[in-house]
Amino acid sequence: AKAGGRNRLAFYSAELDEQAQQRRTLEHALRGAVERREFVLHYQPAVELRSGRVTGFEALVRWNRPGHGLVAPNEFIDVLEDTGLIRDVGDWVIGEVVRQLAAWEHAGHEHLRAAVNVSAAQLRPSAVNPDLHAEPVYSLLEKVQACLARHPLRTAQLEIELTESALMTDAAFACETLERLRAVVGRVHVDDFGTGYSSLAYLKRLPIDSLKIDRVFVQDLPDDAEDASIVRAVIGLAHSLGLDVIAEGIETEAQRQFLLAAGCDHGQGYLFSRPVPADEVPALLQGSRGP
Ligand code: C2E
Ligand code: CA
Ligand code: CA
Ligand code: CA
Repeated sequence: AKAGGRNRLAFYSAELDEQAQQRRTLEHALRGAVERREFVLHYQPAVELRSGRVTGFEALVRWNRPGHGLVAPNEFIDVLEDTGLIRDVGDWVIGEVVRQLAAWEHAGHEHLRAAVNVSAAQLRPSAVNPDLHAEPVYSLLEKVQACLARHPLRTAQLEIELTESALMTDAAFACETLERLRAVVGRVHVDDFGTGYSSLAYLKRLPIDSLKIDRVFVQDLPDDAEDASIVRAVIGLAHSLGLDVIAEGIETEAQRQFLLAAGCDHGQGYLFSRPVPADEVPALLQGSRGP
């Protein structure tokens, strides 16, 4: 039994070594990917549930990894966040979306809106290097302003999505940052709502425009009675605070019907469209029902 235990320990530690090794390999590959700009954005429409009209898009990053095809963000976002690389990729995402919005506008698609996902690590200004006094303090606000200076957009077309947990870990700071960001961007959405712990007192004070109900509460609608109650409560809460509601991950007509009846304003999900490459966006606008 003793020998067996030792073997098991040896097995576990070999497995941990292998995991750590895989992680280092991934980290190394991602550093190269950032340098070589191997990322692409796909865009998923958000629709007005009542009319089916496309009201905006969410930009979602993919890693075009040589020999692997398109890698989904769940496989690498946490590594980018842990290593701080998310700042570089996040900057690229903002620049690319602003450039794309300007290009769409130039092609006659005026006033399109696109939201970028912003990680908690992008909110805080980077630590100032004491050896480089001349180095300006990086801030998300400055990054956004610089992009908009390069490609002036006519309306507040650039939107921001921040997860509930990113907002709540440092709510006072997030509040201050958002106040300033709000002057240059369009709407601010609270992502994955319901999965974190929101203080309702802060929610009331935050300069935000909408709550995005996380897919976990949508996937078992309309049959799951608890999820149905939660979704109705969130919609009621949001509306009483003057916020818009967007439901994520709508895959079936029954889910859409339920959400519409519950008063949900907007929706996203495979029922309407998967995230698509930028060049397929104009076709989605053509097919959009309503005005
Ligand atoms: P998220 O912001 O909650 O984005 C929604 C995710 O749900 C996307 O996955 C989208 O493709 C997927 N989705 C949309 N509709 C449906 C549906 O009907 N059914 C199902 N099963 N899934 C649906 P994706 O693109 O793999 O992104 C995963 C997460 O990665 C995002 O979750 C977001 O947290 C993060 N992410 C993506 N792009 C960025 C980025 O540029 N920056 C940062 N910081 N995070 C990003
Ligand atoms: Ca999002
Ligand atoms: Ca989300
Ligand atoms: Ca989510």
